[in-house]
Amino acid sequence: MNKQDAMNTVTNSLDDLYQALRAGRYEVMDKQLEVTARFHRYSFNNVMLIYKQCPEATLVAGFHTWKKQGRWVRSGESGIAILAPLTKRKEDDNEREEDSLVMGFRIVYVFDVSQTDGDALMEEAPILGDPGRNLSALLNVYRDLEIKVHLTKLPGTVQGYSLGGEVRVSDDLDDISLFRVLSHELAHELMHKTIRCTSENKPLLETEAEAVAFVVASACGVRCLDRSADYIALHEGSQILLENSLEAIHKTSSSILGMIEKQVVNFDNGIAQAA
Ligand SMILES: [Zn+2]
Repeated sequence: MNKQDAMNTVTNSLDDLYQALRAGRYEVMDKQLEVTARFHRYSFNNVMLIYKQCPEATLVAGFHTWKKQGRWVRSGESGIAILAPLTKRKEDDNEREEDSLVMGFRIVYVFDVSQTDGDALMEEAPILGDPGRNLSALLNVYRDLEIKVHLTKLPGTVQGYSLGGEVRVSDDLDDISLFRVLSHELAHELMHKTIRCTSENKPLLETEAEAVAFVVASACGVRCLDRSADYIALHEGSQILLENSLEAIHKTSSSILGMIEKQVVNFDNGIAQAA
């Protein structure tokens, strides 16, 4: 693939993603996706708490949330305790402290989907194709950038996360999913290393990382348009965020594709070993 082809691939893929977001599986989004979105919004600490109490949890929500989604918690099931932040105005005799905020936590209970019955859940959008040698090439890119890849067991539906200089990725993914997740986390590493993720900027960061992953995956034999569009929608991303970040997304995807291409050329010339 020459440079112009690569640029065209990036542009065309981004256009596909833009159209998919715009067409909005988002708007017709099924009940389950709303629940999944809730799971994704739990803090990392809470995801760890959930996992500790219920290692097989995949989709959790509170009792009433499940009810609203047409499912109910079976009687006798015990809840998974998580911490909900409590913010209130401090009521103190000392006037100077009157307007300071007290942060506390209270325990709330959630239930995994396996503890519920009711309306059927929607299946995840498919992810197809074969990254072939591009997967080894991508792992070599990580190695050359000195970003550690740690394959490990991760809680629930979490497939990976980036820590800055290190990414953790679920150890039970097939090659296609692994390729997409590694591309996504590499985008975070290259674009967001110095940015602290907050609930305000998370939709933007996830839109950027997943858009890059989608473009890189598309160019490397992995088809995941609906999955990526759903992922972005689940994180409250949108085509508007995508549009505003096009330049950065374009730049990062081109750069990752260039690095992958270089590794593949090295394989061909016998210069590099596959990871
Ligand atoms: Zn992410």
